[in-house]
Amino acid sequence: MKKFHDFLRKGEFRLAICIGCNKKIWPPTEFCCDCFSKTSFKKIKPVGTLIESSTSHIRGKEELFGIVDMEGIKLIGSLSSDLTIGMRVRMVECGIRENGIAFYHFEPLKRLNSYTEAKTYHMSDKKK
Ligand SMILES: [Zn+2]
Repeated sequence: MKKFHDFLRKGEFRLAICIGCNKKIWPPTEFCCDCFSKTSFKKIKPVGTLIESSTSHIRGKEELFGIVDMEGIKLIGSLSSDLTIGMRVRMVECGIRENGIAFYHFEPLKRLNSYTEAKTYHMSDKKK
């Protein structure tokens, strides 16, 4: 768990995978609960599907939370406002709060794609 948190602190989400049986370990631990081999922390594409969302009211502030399925593991994170269930999302931010709790923030994948397209269009425009 410490290693996982070290990566998170750097804003990097890594998935714990057992060296012995290749099982994905979530929540991350240093040893596999099935075969007791060590786990390694693999870099993954931080993209998943939103499977549930709810709004919470903390100190009068409205916040959107959701459960995201990423590579078969389920993460609870905060969401940007324009998401619907079943949508492809991307983890744009992760880290550890002052109270030691990990946080994740998700945004729709689509918006990022259109941004890239717009940029590419702009670049090809310049060439003319
Ligand atoms: Zn194992």
